[in-house]
Amino acid sequence: MIVYLATNNPHKAEELAPLLPGVELRLPRDAGIEFDPEEDGADFLANSLIKARVLHALVRAPVLADDSGLCVDALGGEPGIRSARYGQVEGGPKLEAADRNRLLLEAVRGAADRACRFVCCLTLVRSDDRFFAVQETCEGVLLEAPRGSGGFGYDPIVYLPELGRSVAELTMEEKSRVSHRGRAARRMAALLVDLIAAP
Ligand code: IMP
Repeated sequence: MIVYLATNNPHKAEELAPLLPGVELRLPRDAGIEFDPEEDGADFLANSLIKARVLHALVRAPVLADDSGLCVDALGGEPGIRSARYGQVEGGPKLEAADRNRLLLEAVRGAADRACRFVCCLTLVRSDDRFFAVQETCEGVLLEAPRGSGGFGYDPIVYLPELGRSVAELTMEEKSRVSHRGRAARRMAALLVDLIAAP
């Protein structure tokens, strides 16, 4: 089944593709589409659906969207759905991941509670009125300083106590096993198998 992925983030495509057997993932640019919808929803589900529906209206084929981010307890759940734009000045460019990580660690400096979780909401839009959604999490603890060079985004500053490593210190396979995106993708993969058998 050909499924369009509503993202310009190559890391998301790289992590999702091996977890969705039987699916040929295509990116908006494969259809010559400049994809940058306004993500003005109130939560991950709303933003995921916005992305999936906007792209579905253009390609008229099944579309998968990933809206994800890091929620920090000491910051009341921030940056959350604003993870990609954290620290961005109004009208200015997005910050580099290393700068966002530095800002976030400054914001929680001295905080006793360093609990955080990655969240990933995957939505699959099949037609104008049919969609499927799954949202999963990956619990972690904010480090004092970045560690590791794998993954992307906030991975170097999130420590997974049960593995004794930061997310950026995991191989892609290890990250997929425990990550918010890996967990969500495995559930979505089961649904896709079902949909391929019984559209
Ligand atoms: P989105 O494109 O609006 O879903 O923004 C997602 C943002 O959340 C990314 O740009 C990253 O900053 C962060 N994020 C989401 N998933 C991950 C991950 O697996 N590792 C690290 N950062 C992530």
